[in-house]
Amino acid sequence: MSLVQIKTVGARHASPDPPATGPEYWRSLDQLADTPEFRQWVQREFPEDAAAVLDGNSRRTMLKIMAASFGLAGLAACSRPVYRLAPQARGREDYIPGAPYNYTSVFSLGGHASGLVVQTYEGRPSKIEGNPDHPSSLGAATALAQASLLGVYDPDRSKTVFDSGKDSSWEKFEAAIKGLPLGDGSGLRFLSESVISPTLEGLRAEALKKWPKAKWVEYESISRENERAGAILAFGQAVNVHPQFDKAKVILSLDYDFLGADWPTPLATKLFSKNRHVDSEEDLDKLSRLYVVESQFSLTGANAEHRLRMQGGDVEAFASRLQYTLLGLSRPTTVGAKYEKFLAALAKDLGAAGSKALVVAGPRQPAVVHAIAHQINQFLGATGSTVTYTKATTTDRVESGVDALKTLAGEMTGGQVSTLIILGGNPAYTAPADLQFGAALAKVANSIHLGAYDDETAAAAKWHLPEAHYLETWGDARSTDGVVAIQQPMIEPIFGGKSAVEVMAVLLDSEDRKGYDLVKNYWTSQWPAASRDNTWKKALNDGVLAETNAAEVKPTVDAKRIQAAPAATAASGIEVGFVPSATTWDGRFANNAWMQEAPDPITKLVWGNVALISPAMGREKGWKDGDMIALTRGNLKLEAAVMIQPGHADNAVTIALGYGRPRAGTVGANVGFNAGLIRTSDAFWFSQGFSIAATGGKFILANTQEHGSMEEPQLVASIKPNKRPLVRETTIEEYKKNAKVIEAMNEVPELDSVYPQLKWEGLQWGMAIDLGACTGCSACVVACQAENNVPSVGKDQVLRGREMHWLRMDRYYVGSVDDPRAVEQPIPCMQCENAPCENVCPVQATTHSPEGLNDMAYNRCVGTRYCANNCPFKVRHFNFLDWHKNFLERRRIEPELMQMVYNPDVTVRMRGIMEKCTYCVQRIQEARIATKTDGRREFKGEGVVTACQQTCPADAIAFGNINDPNSKVAKLKKQERNYAMLAELDVRPRTTYLGRLRNPNPELEAS
Ligand code: SF4
Repeated sequence: MSLVQIKTVGARHASPDPPATGPEYWRSLDQLADTPEFRQWVQREFPEDAAAVLDGNSRRTMLKIMAASFGLAGLAACSRPVYRLAPQARGREDYIPGAPYNYTSVFSLGGHASGLVVQTYEGRPSKIEGNPDHPSSLGAATALAQASLLGVYDPDRSKTVFDSGKDSSWEKFEAAIKGLPLGDGSGLRFLSESVISPTLEGLRAEALKKWPKAKWVEYESISRENERAGAILAFGQAVNVHPQFDKAKVILSLDYDFLGADWPTPLATKLFSKNRHVDSEEDLDKLSRLYVVESQFSLTGANAEHRLRMQGGDVEAFASRLQYTLLGLSRPTTVGAKYEKFLAALAKDLGAAGSKALVVAGPRQPAVVHAIAHQINQFLGATGSTVTYTKATTTDRVESGVDALKTLAGEMTGGQVSTLIILGGNPAYTAPADLQFGAALAKVANSIHLGAYDDETAAAAKWHLPEAHYLETWGDARSTDGVVAIQQPMIEPIFGGKSAVEVMAVLLDSEDRKGYDLVKNYWTSQWPAASRDNTWKKALNDGVLAETNAAEVKPTVDAKRIQAAPAATAASGIEVGFVPSATTWDGRFANNAWMQEAPDPITKLVWGNVALISPAMGREKGWKDGDMIALTRGNLKLEAAVMIQPGHADNAVTIALGYGRPRAGTVGANVGFNAGLIRTSDAFWFSQGFSIAATGGKFILANTQEHGSMEEPQLVASIKPNKRPLVRETTIEEYKKNAKVIEAMNEVPELDSVYPQLKWEGLQWGMAIDLGACTGCSACVVACQAENNVPSVGKDQVLRGREMHWLRMDRYYVGSVDDPRAVEQPIPCMQCENAPCENVCPVQATTHSPEGLNDMAYNRCVGTRYCANNCPFKVRHFNFLDWHKNFLERRRIEPELMQMVYNPDVTVRMRGIMEKCTYCVQRIQEARIATKTDGRREFKGEGVVTACQQTCPADAIAFGNINDPNSKVAKLKKQERNYAMLAELDVRPRTTYLGRLRNPNPELEAS
């Protein structure tokens, strides 16, 4: 701790009342029980056995992780594409070796597109950021989009064309395909994921014309089918739904994790968080109120004012009851009395909000729940206000969803399919278990699989074709509101892969074979010849094609059709539910070490998934975290480890998809449990009728929720038993009454340092994080990892508390174990003015810069780790192993190859030294140099954006010169809800927080 003398013990922030610290916050059940295990995480830097020498197996595992973490690939691929790329406006026309160049591109996932700006060095992509001009990203990028970069360099990616498991070539494949008797297409089927590429749609139309009896099926394991079916039920037509979260005052989410894995672009968080920023008194009245009804504790649930937990199967009855309360219409359903109070208060609140209300339904809920949401929105006048619609693209000859896949699997098994062309995806892993897709594939004489990995589907198909990464190939993608972005490649295909449009061109024997020609010609042929070149260049520069927005439609709800829809039977017994993984999605990111090691936003688990159960279920069954259970239904069976999740619905089990893959690659193979083994086509999202029993086995879970636990001493003069709160929040009512309420939650003794105090003049860096806006999405965690060459360490090392993330997300619960709320808090290095780490460093490896940065001189550090021991925020990380050098030696890889994924502006740290957040000092230096080269004399801190700040979809992070009264950070720090964590230690952190403001419904908050 810093050397301070306590002069007087008394509140610096005079308050007549004892400090109003609010409720107690806890990170885990162990903390609540104050177990010795938890005390160990608080008091020790690492657990007692952390220093144990790695055995051979652990070491091998760790090295495998490092392989993918560092993303190595062939040097030969480090070349620029031969086609001309137009740099973005902030790039430069003349090429300067060593300078970063930015290009626009687009990332597609689950039928959604997000526009990107990709930074490249010497023709290799090294950092992904959001494109501010793209309507679905608005300058931000999700954690998955950030981490997709690592896939470019993944050495496990497929490199060879396989024919029946043997090495072949693209030439042999082309010859074979030409010889296929496809005729009128009777035995020909195509299977793809959601097609949102207009160029691919064009080629699809061509193929279906050429082979009129062929069929095209779209299937996504994390599908939007229910949303589409709900629109058809409500409106009689397929429309895309656009919730305008920023316009809504009262929002109800019916099992929709729109701030988390259910919405794979930053847009929902961008819009939602707009109403969560409070910069003035007027903003207090703009704060929205969020209600969430759900089974598992989602990120959206963590941001809710009011959360009602119930089985997923009960949500339909709840929605029907709400429909009855508001509209007087009723489908024959009942809802338990325990929900009535919540429902009555909610209905009243929605009714009062009227056109400022918004009801949204999640992808797991059946069509009727979506239809009821549309009906309520229309009734309240929200249509056109808080929710808008655009016409969905539909193609007559395309069937989509799990039923279409089931029909296809039936045709394959029945011998009706002679040629199946699978364009991307991994259906042998993601298809429901009852379809036996792998076995059905074996019955198809000519099965062709285009995929990025030699995965489960590749193993079952006759032909396997390596797929190019989206940053290696030309393409395009349409966002849900119709806006098209061109997918520019940054690098030649490293392993010789091709894209779906290029494979389609081979099949169609098109004149154009290259992605560039196919995409460019598709678009330019639609434009007047005179403007083609300029329009194309502008599209590449901006990252969006002008005037491609879909027209808004105003459909009308058909109440009779909704009333006639059959009602679900009431839930009974134990329900098993499936959710997308926040880290591996549907399994496609399983081999991505950045995502495997990014803690789940709620459970904080890394390297695996679990069967989540409620504390009540744990008590009833006598189960603890890591106990193995068997989930059985008919002949389907899954063994998985349980984890007790506070706030989970009772009598329900939730398990994330995307784990337990046998052929994921060296990083992801057999990590976690494969929920797909018990997921069936008739119970795609949740199902009852499972028998559940303990197997007696145990499993070690790598859970980081207690790592970084900080000491929260009792208040010095308080008569309350509460501790000094690290995370602070209050209601807007309290805040209106007393703007000092956040500040008064702590008492700071009058302190004087024994060191002379510096005058922090001129340019001084600081950060403010608005806990009211931050949703806990963790995009900042991955952005920091990518920007700062932070290695992944593997499960074994995480268990020893050695994860290296410079920015961690702390998640606190508050309230009862069974039904708590949650709060998220990002924790970077606090860059303390009285930095306690600096006082104890024997070699002055960590010192203060004149601009207030707590700098690290890596080559001076001798690894005593005194600084980490003395850091009250636990944000320093020690390189116990030489993550870089060991790997190079073992795999005999040229050191130059390592450079491909690294940010060349950031030092790569070696064994035995300490590292931590630098406020992206390389970006500060870059801006400083730019000021000089621009001929300006004085650098005032303009234009510096840290990696975490840049990617944050909630705009929750402000950074800059705190001495500039006009800077955003300075203005935020002046707000009354600004506070410093552990202020009583007088370390004077430059990173401060703005207390979270909540807007609860008084009728429910009091209960
Ligand atoms: S601060 Fe980090 S976790 Fe919070 S919303 Fe921004 S990116 Fe997500």
